[in-house]
Amino acid sequence: MTSDRIRITLLDGGRLRLDGGAMFGIIPKALWQRLAPADEANRIQLTTTCLLIESAGRRLLVETGIGNKYTPRDREIFALSEHWLLDSLLARGIDPVSIDTVVLTHLHFDHAGGATRMDDTLGKPVPTFPRAEYVVQRGEWEDAMSGYCVMSATYRTENLAPLAESGRLKLVEGDGEIAPGVWLRVLPGHTRHQQGVIIRDGARTLIQPADLMPTAAHAGVRYNMSYDLLPYDNMKNKLRLLNEAAGGGWTLLLGQDAQHTAYSVNREGEERFRLAPAEPVA
Ligand SMILES: [Zn+2]
Repeated sequence: MTSDRIRITLLDGGRLRLDGGAMFGIIPKALWQRLAPADEANRIQLTTTCLLIESAGRRLLVETGIGNKYTPRDREIFALSEHWLLDSLLARGIDPVSIDTVVLTHLHFDHAGGATRMDDTLGKPVPTFPRAEYVVQRGEWEDAMSGYCVMSATYRTENLAPLAESGRLKLVEGDGEIAPGVWLRVLPGHTRHQQGVIIRDGARTLIQPADLMPTAAHAGVRYNMSYDLLPYDNMKNKLRLLNEAAGGGWTLLLGQDAQHTAYSVNREGEERFRLAPAEPVA
């Protein structure tokens, strides 16, 4: 996707499968399986699409996908791909050293897993992007480190500790512009301090809302995940964002949708929206 000032490249950060019931919370399987077919273990296919944003001579990554630091048991439970973000970057000839900034929407393993990699010489995980600053909301970092919300299984030490130890962690509070045309927006619900990323270039606006709405199948206001810490907040913020996107002609970039990434939004009624695959930015 290219425009006048900003170039966005979609990168495959790896694939996984998660339990369909957990992915759709209170929604009966009879409804969600029409949108996301389950496998024999009741799991649905997800991807982790990361964004490479080039703006004003700087390279930003949004999300880092699943990474590759897993046991065979992890790989089996979540059907994790071997392929991860670094493979996608190297295939395009992009040196990880050239990345200036990494934005992590939140620190769950399927978003922050690629932030670090195992260094076989040192025998420990190190930041995958050695020159980058890693931008995280302070509240999200503190929740992850404190074990708040008993989500410790997804806040993995090997993904987080190397960032703190390297001094490359940049904790921010609230919304703000982090590069020309690239904005953070805090979107509480899935976690208390999750952030999305808004890209504005001329008249065009795109948003990566992270796990506020991981796939197009989650566009229904009540289609929330069991993983959401604050389901009601998630619903309210999703409704607000969908109204904003429909009214402003925004493009959604849905990071875990296995079919498409870019979607347009049409409002079809009170709390009802239709998403349609969108063309890449011209
Ligand atoms: Zn998450």
